[in-house]
Amino acid sequence: MIDLHTHSNFSDGTDTPTQLLNKAMANGITTLAMTDHDTVAGWEEATLHLRPGLSLVLGSEISCQTHDGISVHMLGMLFDPTNVDLMAMMAETRDNRIGRMAKIITRLNAANFLVTMEDVEAQLSDGATLGRPHLADALVAKGYMKSRDQVFAEVLHNDSPYYVAHHSPTPEEAIALIKGAGGVAVIAHPMSSLRSRTVSPETFDAYVAAGLDGIEVFHRDHTQENRDLLTGIARGFDLIMTGSSDYHGNGKLNQLGECTTSPEEFEKLESRANQRRVIKR
Ligand code: AMP
Ligand code: ZN
Ligand code: FE
Ligand code: FE
Repeated sequence: MIDLHTHSNFSDGTDTPTQLLNKAMANGITTLAMTDHDTVAGWEEATLHLRPGLSLVLGSEISCQTHDGISVHMLGMLFDPTNVDLMAMMAETRDNRIGRMAKIITRLNAANFLVTMEDVEAQLSDGATLGRPHLADALVAKGYMKSRDQVFAEVLHNDSPYYVAHHSPTPEEAIALIKGAGGVAVIAHPMSSLRSRTVSPETFDAYVAAGLDGIEVFHRDHTQENRDLLTGIARGFDLIMTGSSDYHGNGKLNQLGECTTSPEEFEKLESRANQRRVIKR
């Protein structure tokens, strides 16, 4: 089983990279991509703790925003982690996430949700990318809410008055940087029904022109209708179709291997990177 999109506690997942690899093996995964938000910080631990039987695809889920303010997530995989331009872009996004969090906290405080940056940082592992899920965990720890899900449903969703976006590259810029670093670019859950607004099918032209390799078609946030539409788009542009769990440990209901990628599609994807970068022991 091939699962090409998962998170560790180097972003908003709750498992360490080592725990993630062990759980993947226990769940029958044979190829796993670890794709933390806007960082490669977990790559070292994952590489060190990889055991025979699992092929490791290292990547990152890059936060993007279109010119009209739609949030897009771009999976970059199998790129060179020493690429200066790509690393600089990720560092800028992580930096922006700190000021953005301060703004969300100010808005929440005004509504009498008394939470501080320190409360949020207490929920974050060392070196991890800061995100709304950590704020959600802080609100749960303070007793305002019962779960991450409840916080997102009631106060932290994208249409909420407390929501603040952070500066991010456009999807085209992210694709160009991933390709420039020798990797492959797959647009994550492009029609996720949980998001307020999603990109329209027409925008795929521009992503393909920028070098997009694939579409995450099979994802729990996609209805059958979404999957059919995305399959049509993928066939039309000859893009690779992936499926993945978007596992976040206890942070979300998503279970490892609940959606998977076929070996044929994975082989095509791997061959689009400029070097063989899948790690095996
Ligand atoms: P951010 O990147 O800070 O804007 O936060 C977005 C992250 O929140 C994404 O990685 C999602 O996985 C996570 N998220 C969104 N909705 C929920 C939810 N209902 N429960 C848990 N996590 C969520
Ligand atoms: Zn996440
Ligand atoms: Fe995502
Ligand atoms: Fe994700």
